[in-house]
Amino acid sequence: MSDNCSFCKIADGEISSHKVYEDEKVFAFKDINPQAPVHIIIIPKKHINSLETILEEDEAVLGHIQIVASKIAKRFPEMKKGFRLINNCGLDGGQTVFHIHYHLLGGRVFAWPPG
Ligand code: AMP
Ligand code: ZN
Repeated sequence: MSDNCSFCKIADGEISSHKVYEDEKVFAFKDINPQAPVHIIIIPKKHINSLETILEEDEAVLGHIQIVASKIAKRFPEMKKGFRLINNCGLDGGQTVFHIHYHLLGGRVFAWPPG
């Protein structure tokens, strides 16, 4: 838990969210400003600033997030034909909340390259 981190507060229940998944390592909730019909944020409960600052010891939880993303996607019929899992890293990457998180998006066709 890091003071003044809104995503730590969401994982802790101090800030309310629409939870879609939780286990001992990971928390997932609906994005407040969805960019697709389904837009879920997946975070480790451990505070990590960004993909730039991960440590070897974070390998298990970051791998686990991929398993969780796949499980959540299976629950939504909108993601039956595919989905996108995105990490925005740092200012140029478009990161606005500095607690590492993955966007799970589905329910529409996504363009490539991203904007
Ligand atoms: P990023 O720009 O990659 O850092 O993404 C941060 C995401 O968190 C944005 O899509 C926001 O809409 C979302 N977000 C920020 N605060 C909240 C919140 N309190 N509840 C749900 N989603 C949030
Ligand atoms: Zn945090």
